[in-house]
Amino acid sequence: MAAEEWAGLLAAETLTGEVLAAAAARRDASWGRTITYSPKVFLPVTNLCRDRCTYCTFRKDPDDPDAWTMRPEEIAEWSRRGRALGCTEALLCLGDRPEAAFPTYRHTLHVLGHRSTAEYVHRAACIALEAGLLPHTNAGVLERDEMARLRSVNVSLGLMLESVSPRLRRRGGVHQWAPDKEPARRLRMLEAAGELRIPFTTGLLLGIGETFGERVDTLLAIRAAHRRHGHVQEVIVQPFRAKPTLNAGATEPGVLDVARTVAVARLLLDPEIAVQAPPNLLLSTEQEVLLHAGVNDWGGMSPLTPDYVNPESPWPHVQALAETCARAGFRLVPRLPVYGRYLAVPGWVDPALRPAIERCAPGPSLRAAEHAST
Ligand code: SF4
Repeated sequence: MAAEEWAGLLAAETLTGEVLAAAAARRDASWGRTITYSPKVFLPVTNLCRDRCTYCTFRKDPDDPDAWTMRPEEIAEWSRRGRALGCTEALLCLGDRPEAAFPTYRHTLHVLGHRSTAEYVHRAACIALEAGLLPHTNAGVLERDEMARLRSVNVSLGLMLESVSPRLRRRGGVHQWAPDKEPARRLRMLEAAGELRIPFTTGLLLGIGETFGERVDTLLAIRAAHRRHGHVQEVIVQPFRAKPTLNAGATEPGVLDVARTVAVARLLLDPEIAVQAPPNLLLSTEQEVLLHAGVNDWGGMSPLTPDYVNPESPWPHVQALAETCARAGFRLVPRLPVYGRYLAVPGWVDPALRPAIERCAPGPSLRAAEHAST
C-alpha cells in the first residue's frame, strides 16, 4: 500500500471496525492469544537533560529541587529489591547528554569517576547485572561507539523515534528546543543499532503535532530500517498525555485514534515486530480496545518503581491487567527485555550476557518470549 493509503486508514473513522479486525487477525496469526509484559525496575540514572521538549515533566535543570542523579549505591539497592520482587529488566532511562549543558553535572560525573553519561550508564548496567537483572538502556541519542560499548552490558537498547516530522523542530513545535529530537539524528541511531546487531525498541509518540501522513512516514522508516537489519524487536505506540507544561492545553489523542494507529502499525510492520502500548496511560476499557486492535505487548511494568516519565499514571496491577486480557480472550505472561528470536541466533546478544539471561529466564518467561517471536 502507498503511504497515502495507510494515512487514509488512520483518518477513516468509518472503517475503524474493519481495520481493527484485520490487525487483530494479523496479530493472532503471528503472536497467538498471548500478551506479554516485562517485569522491570525503572532506574532514572539522571533526570538532567540538555533538551527541552515542551511536553516533558521528566527533565530537570541542576538547580531544580527534584534534580537527581542516582548514586551507584542507589542503583544497586533498587536493582536488588526489584530482583527480589521478581523483576527481570533494569530499564535505564535518562535525560539526553546532560554533560553537554551543565558544568555541575560534569563535576558529578568526575566525582563518580566518569567522563560521560554513557560511561556512567555502562557502570550502572554492570551494577544491575550483578544484582541479577537484564539491562535495557534508553539514554537518548547515543553515538555509535557508545552503543558498541553498551551492547556488552545490555540485552537490548531503545530510542523512541517519536516522529520523523522535521516540522516539530521548528519555531512553536514541541521539539523546538530539543536538538536531540532532530529526526535525522534519531534515524542514524536506529540504523547504527541495526549495523551493530543490537535488538532495538523504538516507537511513536502520538498527538505532538504530527499529521497522519507523518505517523505513517515514521512507521515506514522503522520498517525500512528493520528490513535492512532485522533488529527492531518492538514498536511502542504511545499517546501523548497532557501535563502541567508548556503545551498543557494540547489535545490528547482519543482511544480510537490510538487504536487505529496500533492497527496500522500492526498491518504495516513486519509480523515479527511486537506492537506495544503502555497500559498505565489507558483505562482498562481502553486497554481492551487496543487488544482488539492488534496490540500484543504492554511493555515494562514495575512492582517497585513508578513510571518516572508519566508519574501521575501508575502501572496497573498485573492481576487486574491479566483479568482485562482474559476478558478479551488473552493470556498475560511475563517476558524478558530481549525477544526470543535474538537469543536463538548467535551474533545478536553478547555471549557474556548468556548466564545472566539463563538465571533470569524462568521457564515460562523464556518460553513465552520464544513463542512470541517465532
Ligand atoms: S522527553 Fe527526553 S529528550 Fe525531551 S526533555 Fe524530556 S528527557 Fe529530555
